Amino acid sequence: MLNLTKSTRAFAEAQEYTPGGVNSPVRSFRSVGGVPPFIQNGKGSKIYDIDGNEYIDYVMSYGPLLMGHVPDCVAKAIKAAVDRGTSYGAPTVAEIELAKLICKLIKSVEMVRFVNSGTEATMSALRLARAYTKRESIVKFIGCYHGHHDSLLVKAGSGATTCGVPDSPGVPRGVAMNTITVPFNDETALEAVFAEKGKEIAAVIMEPTPGNMGLVLPHDGFLDFVRKITKKHGALLICDEVMSGFRGAQGGSQSLYNIDPDITCLGKVIGGGLPVAAYGGKREIMMMVSPAGPMYQAGTLSGNPLAMNAGIAALTYMIENDVCNKLTAVTAKLTAGLEKAAAEAGVPVQVHHLGSMFTVFFSDKPITDYESATQCNPEAFKIYFHSMLEKGIYLPPSQFETNFLSLAHSPEDIEKTLQAAAYSFKQVAKHLKK
Ligand SMILES: *Cc1c(COP(=O)(O)O)cnc(C)c1O
Repeated sequence: MLNLTKSTRAFAEAQEYTPGGVNSPVRSFRSVGGVPPFIQNGKGSKIYDIDGNEYIDYVMSYGPLLMGHVPDCVAKAIKAAVDRGTSYGAPTVAEIELAKLICKLIKSVEMVRFVNSGTEATMSALRLARAYTKRESIVKFIGCYHGHHDSLLVKAGSGATTCGVPDSPGVPRGVAMNTITVPFNDETALEAVFAEKGKEIAAVIMEPTPGNMGLVLPHDGFLDFVRKITKKHGALLICDEVMSGFRGAQGGSQSLYNIDPDITCLGKVIGGGLPVAAYGGKREIMMMVSPAGPMYQAGTLSGNPLAMNAGIAALTYMIENDVCNKLTAVTAKLTAGLEKAAAEAGVPVQVHHLGSMFTVFFSDKPITDYESATQCNPEAFKIYFHSMLEKGIYLPPSQFETNFLSLAHSPEDIEKTLQAAAYSFKQVAKHLKK
């Protein structure tokens, strides 16, 4: 058993001051039960809690830490930036440099605007799509998560799925009414929506490779279909690559599936572990954004120099060291090992991976959308999760989250993870037999 005495005390105290004791719901471990370890520090592939336990980390701050915890390149850039000043409310050349890097990496992006969170990026992208098309309705896919603002907190995945409140109280009905939801991978449903409401639809927003209902992949031709039907009806296509940008592939998942969206949202990796997100796209559309155009959007700390310099360091290192391709290979190896361990234990799983992301679904059926994802065995996941934690492997505490690898994960880490998985799948098998 893990000793979590100090974490238990901290969690009790946290609940006095913060709802549920956390500032992001999934951190509370509510869907798997137990006490969340409170983290003291991280280095490379590992995190250490305040009780002195060490874990190999597959959360990686839910995606941002592509090179692991505190890589030298990013730490140096942040320290140097701090010494110059933390925020000015005036432009810096770092903003140009990070914008250039993003435009070079994501082919469909010609201009970007920096914000502080993925939520802000998708919220602003929707406003931009509505301003540009002069239409009000939005189409989103069930189980895709785009942040917690009102328009998109409708049939969302991630924490919203885990806590069982896909439609939150407090979201005005009038706002939610403008959000149309369809199942992912379902051309027929999307076609029907456009046939009925095509002239009202400002945009379709999608995670091209959804990661917030666990990692689900588009079937052949689906993304292409979405691109074609939006174009045909004069609606914009917004690719939310806040997670998949630089996790799916160096050019974003859009490069893997060869689609050309009008607007792209980015976040997580682009801040190198600091709060940065962005939305960008075709110049003609982006020129609508204030002060170049009439669509208002602003932010006191947007383009913050510490965050910009962290992002520049992370993306530069990523490009120079071919990080995405390296991680794709390691992830493929790890997931093949997980599949094998599950098979040997006689536990039915569906293992999905893309780039440096992966999910183990406890199901004997293919997972193609939210409906099939939610039919996975929650009890099996709980046992797997706690067995892995006991063996020093820190996974996201929900079936509906994606696991992330980093460049810091060593061959020994992978080996240790596979040994822990062999043990954990056996624990699951015992439960299934009962
Ligand atoms: C994480 C995420 C967001 C929200 O980003 P925050 O920084 O948490 O607001 C939006 N879209 C996707 C696809 C995400 O994975």
